[in-house]
Amino acid sequence: MVDPKKDFLPFALPEIGEEEIAEVVNALRSGWVTTGPKTKQFEADFAAYLGGGVEAIAVNSATAGLHLGLEALGVGPGDEVITTTHTFTATAEIIRYLGADPVFVDVDPRTLCIDVAGIERAITPRTKAIIPVHFAGRSADMQALLALAKKHGLRVMEDAAHALPTTCGGTMIGQLDSDVTVFSFYANKTITTGEGGMLVTRDPELAKRAKVMRLHGINRDAFDRFTAKAPSWYYEIVAPGFKYNMTDIASSLGLHQLKRANEFQAKRARIAALYDEALAGLPIVLPPHAEAGDIHSWHLYVTQLADGAGVSRDQFIERLFEQGIGCSVHYIPLHLQPYWRDTYKLTPEMFPNSQRIYERTVTLPLYTRMTDADVERVVAAVKQALG
Ligand SMILES: *Cc1c(COP(=O)(O)O)cnc(C)c1O
Repeated sequence: MVDPKKDFLPFALPEIGEEEIAEVVNALRSGWVTTGPKTKQFEADFAAYLGGGVEAIAVNSATAGLHLGLEALGVGPGDEVITTTHTFTATAEIIRYLGADPVFVDVDPRTLCIDVAGIERAITPRTKAIIPVHFAGRSADMQALLALAKKHGLRVMEDAAHALPTTCGGTMIGQLDSDVTVFSFYANKTITTGEGGMLVTRDPELAKRAKVMRLHGINRDAFDRFTAKAPSWYYEIVAPGFKYNMTDIASSLGLHQLKRANEFQAKRARIAALYDEALAGLPIVLPPHAEAGDIHSWHLYVTQLADGAGVSRDQFIERLFEQGIGCSVHYIPLHLQPYWRDTYKLTPEMFPNSQRIYERTVTLPLYTRMTDADVERVVAAVKQALG
């Protein structure tokens, strides 16, 4: 017998191996605990994992990376940045950090990602950039989005917090023609450094700006322009920068998590397929899949209750918790959050797809350490909760 109180199955758990632990201990013993050789290695490995030809800049969160990316793109007061309402608040808050205004767009119910036709309608003379989110690890329609951005001269920064590894049209996210892509290594993401993120760009000017702003606006190259060699103690402050660097303790985790990214994705995809098979035929809308031939990272397994489910979403989640199954809601859309709703006068009617999805959505547990028995337990609990 399963005791639901004792045997609670969380909706997410990291998988940390002995290699990660040994590397962290090595960092601690080395005396180099902040940004150093392990971070440099993690950045090089990450760029290589994406296929090379890009610069990877390690930061202490994806939120920090998104902030640095938008800052490097020159977004400031008076500018508008188009993004999706169906996301975590970090995607939008960084627009406000820079004094610019987010313009929220509804999602395409087929992908749960930003609706490209909606983006086109939202463009004004103030629009500077677009931030799509690869929701749950399925890529947004980037071909159409990038073509639209090009047509209107807009910059694109991908919020790829869910998208390692994800492909779009056969290309790795991080290698598309957008300006900046930002990944997250938060505890529940597909690989983790506890807290952490990676800003990726192919543009050397953007990379340079992000690196300077990552650490207090310090520029160590400035001196070298005028003299042969700067003394090691010399630096110049060229901007009021931030404190967004990744520690070598975190990078120690990242080095080994990255090596397992493909193995983790395969495990997640297998669990998603088990769910798909077991839940088919129930009054549940299954998550959107990637386009044929593309990789879905399966960061999240996001379902929706069908109209005939006979149970409300809140009731359904309560019934799963009673059976010891953790689940979550991705997301409470930003148009319902007091700050965003009140500041930008947002109503549910402006986002009918996101609103409809929100009212029905439930994210089931999906992580690499789940056993087949865990999956069966969730499926049984879902059937019971549906009555
Ligand atoms: C997790 C997440 C972030 C923020 O990542 P952090 O590393 O926690 O800063 C941003 N956007 C989305 C869509 C996320 O899920």
